[in-house]
Amino acid sequence: MTAEGDGAGRRVEQVRFANFQRAIEAQRGQLEAAIARVLERGWLVLGPEGEDFERGLADFVGSERAIGCASGTDAIELALRALDLGAGDEVVTQANTCVPTVAAITRAGATPVLCDVDPGAAAMDPASLAGAIGPRTRAVIPVHLYGQCGPIDEICALAAERGIPVVEDCAQAIGAAFGGQRAGTFGRLGCFSFYPTKNLGAIGDGGAVVTSDHDLADRLRKLRVYGQETRYEHVTEGVNSRLDELQAAVLSAKLSRLDADNERRRAIAVEYAKALEAGTARPLSVLPDREHVYHLYVLEVDDREAFRGALEERGIQTLVHYPIPIHRQPAYQRLADGPVPLEVAERLCERVVSLPIYPELTDAEVDHVAAALRAVA
Ligand SMILES: *Cc1c(COP(=O)(O)O)cnc(C)c1O
Repeated sequence: MTAEGDGAGRRVEQVRFANFQRAIEAQRGQLEAAIARVLERGWLVLGPEGEDFERGLADFVGSERAIGCASGTDAIELALRALDLGAGDEVVTQANTCVPTVAAITRAGATPVLCDVDPGAAAMDPASLAGAIGPRTRAVIPVHLYGQCGPIDEICALAAERGIPVVEDCAQAIGAAFGGQRAGTFGRLGCFSFYPTKNLGAIGDGGAVVTSDHDLADRLRKLRVYGQETRYEHVTEGVNSRLDELQAAVLSAKLSRLDADNERRRAIAVEYAKALEAGTARPLSVLPDREHVYHLYVLEVDDREAFRGALEERGIQTLVHYPIPIHRQPAYQRLADGPVPLEVAERLCERVVSLPIYPELTDAEVDHVAAALRAVA
């Protein structure tokens, strides 16, 4: 263990970017009970825990159905397969997303096309999206990056005009809302990740798709078990992507405190924003009528290396989400030659930096970061 402050007056020497141990300790009793329940029952995959969690998640998000799967990447792939996408079909997403969004598109057999984002909130830019949509576009994947819904109303309106379904990448935005409506319910399908770093994190991998379209939900249930309708009868070509009972039980326990956890993240964000008021570092914009869940607290700075170095000297760990836009990744350079310029995403990738933000940060640690921001930014 590091010499961290305990919130009771001890000096803070280090603020780590994430701390899973604390998240576990915060709920150890409930997590152990959930795990014990699964061991006791001996039902390990696609059982009652999974069904309970799916019902809880659908209710939480405000969707009619939720279908668990093995990861967030799989959730996106399954959503695209449920829409019957495949070879030759194009899917538009934004250039500043993380790689799994794009990996899921190619895994589904479709072709990714990138569009740009807006300079204020780093969200998908509807004008750029309009330019990226072509005759072969069969889906649009806006990414609610960092924990905030982008202009999802405009994106859905534009897609509806062209008859193109919207699949929301909500991996960073569980509980985020726009106009009181939660991420994942605007498009035809919403995709979630329960990777341990996410706001709702499993003790391993997990994911889910939500939809209020019952036909799509039925298709997803088959697709995740090799296209199986009834035992040994395979009606469609599927994959193996299931959420196991252990993860589902843990996730149900954690879901019960997700609203409170997201509230704590917002309270920390308020402190950071206050500390940044007078400085030159600029937090990304909070869009109107949004409930941000601050999966990440992202700033834009002129000299990122100097900024990160100054925080590092004060024991504060920072990360960059993400330093390289998709089309500059060696694996995806072919996407640089797309229909629209991606200049905003390119510029943001050079300027963004993320601060530690998670519910288990102590008040002393938050104060320490805020004081550092006042001194450095
Ligand atoms: C984490 C993440 C994913 C992928 O989720 P995994 O569970 O790691 O497969 C996809 N999109 C975004 C925006 C993410 O943050």
